[in-house]
Amino acid sequence: MLKIKEKNMSIAVVAQRCPQNHPCPSVSYCPTGAIIQQGFGAPTIDEEKCVQCGRCLQMCPYGAFQNA
Ligand code: SF4
Repeated sequence: MLKIKEKNMSIAVVAQRCPQNHPCPSVSYCPTGAIIQQGFGAPTIDEEKCVQCGRCLQMCPYGAFQNA
């Protein structure tokens, strides 16, 4: 079940933590298609689509996704 999006919370990608050399595994686990990756670059998050479910935080082995 998806969480209700809370105000003043968002998920951020810390680009420095992402090695930017592989397809982001979190992309396919995001239930709303909010994660966008161009090539192997650090992904970005479409805040309008993100529902704060936290799946991407669990999937990234580098901890590049963080609560902001
Ligand atoms: S928190 Fe959930 S909805 Fe938001 S980007 Fe991460 S996986 Fe997608």
